[in-house]
Amino acid sequence: MGKVAIVNRMEAFVEMAMDEILSKRSDVCGCERCRLDQTALSLNALPPRYVVSDFGEVVTNLDLDSSQHKADCMVAVLQAIEIVRKNPRH
Ligand SMILES: [Zn+2]
Repeated sequence: MGKVAIVNRMEAFVEMAMDEILSKRSDVCGCERCRLDQTALSLNALPPRYVVSDFGEVVTNLDLDSSQHKADCMVAVLQAIEIVRKNPRH
């Protein structure tokens, strides 16, 4: 058995939604600071999905693969982007 850790699976979904949205937006600052602020705000707006996971393990979870779940992530990320865009911390 390898190393195990508590992982919030929502982080990976937020990262994916963030990549998808930012790739289509040229009006959003893409610096590390803004991106981290956007990620933190998004994760605070979404319910955490903690799992115990081996590193590298890919856990499938049907409710997290649903289009409703993806839409929830997209909405949270879009709202976080707007908050940071209007008030960048730099
Ligand atoms: Zn920035």
